[in-house]
Amino acid sequence: MATGRNFPDAATAAAAAGAVGGAVVLVDGAKSSIPNATTKLLRDLQPRRIVIAGSKAAVSSGIEKALRTAFGSSAVVRLGGSDRYRTSARITDYFFDSSDTVFFATGEKFPDALAGAALAGQFGVPLLTAQRSCVVPETVDVVTSLGATERVLLGSTASLRYTVRTLEECPKHSLTDPNSIWVVVNKKRPLSPKDWAPKDLVRVNAPYVNTPYLRSAAATAVEKMFAAYKKSTGKQMQVLSSYRSYASQQAVYTGNDLLTARPGYSEHQTGLAVDVDAVPRTCSLAPCFADTSQGKWLANNAYKYGFILRYPSGKTSVTGYQFEPWHYRYVGVELATAMRNSSVKTLEEYFGLPAAPNY
Ligand SMILES: [Zn+2]
Repeated sequence: MATGRNFPDAATAAAAAGAVGGAVVLVDGAKSSIPNATTKLLRDLQPRRIVIAGSKAAVSSGIEKALRTAFGSSAVVRLGGSDRYRTSARITDYFFDSSDTVFFATGEKFPDALAGAALAGQFGVPLLTAQRSCVVPETVDVVTSLGATERVLLGSTASLRYTVRTLEECPKHSLTDPNSIWVVVNKKRPLSPKDWAPKDLVRVNAPYVNTPYLRSAAATAVEKMFAAYKKSTGKQMQVLSSYRSYASQQAVYTGNDLLTARPGYSEHQTGLAVDVDAVPRTCSLAPCFADTSQGKWLANNAYKYGFILRYPSGKTSVTGYQFEPWHYRYVGVELATAMRNSSVKTLEEYFGLPAAPNY
């Protein structure tokens, strides 16, 4: 049983059903019950087992309850994950013990998966859905445990890239969702939508030049970082600027693309970026900030609080900006530490994204 509202779960289920001689029955997963015609069909089919493909968000708990009541609770199994890719991995894991071959199709639209599922079913092999250039850890696990060394990509590179075949794992957090702490914003990657604004902005409790607001996690991290600097040196640093809305970026944009970002393309609009200043103000927004006590301490310690120096020296051809020793970007301690240990300095290089020297 899969929802007919969208087809990622049905695609993987179709291949599995084909392999075991089963049928795929579609329901409107958003409804809380099943139509009489579907109940009648199921009675005619006399299934020993009814597998619900997808989480409760895809096929409602009302439908599950109706099936359990009509066919016996022990006959009904739900195979759902937290997203379509994890559901696909879960279904595959349930139905297949081993397989030399797996098919991959994009999980975003379904012409390739629809054609491929029939073929996969006929060959008795799984069909998994994937994002364009990577797979979730659950997919890596199931493909590895199946021993599937033959990985067939359905569709052109516009749908799936070669890195799916090599089971490249997707980043833990999205690089494109503006809500993600790993979102990469540059001259090639505007916020989407361009006037996006964070929902969890809070006032940063720290010394400042311009009243500071950041997303909650970044604000807490700045407060901890500034306190640690003060404790270890007896000196202070302050927030020069922090969150800037689309509208305020319109006012800040100078027309010089090497120094300021166009509205919708500024990391400050994410609520995760902060420009730091010394107290008293020294070398504000200037390369010599790198030589101040504050600049040196940040370069060595910011990662411990989840910040990276976003526009390093010598990386203008990648980031599109000159060296900005004052501009720090919150990405969380895990990624900041991993980047520090890897010696890769920019988000673009770390995640294998195209360089963004200009718009
Ligand atoms: Zn900045």
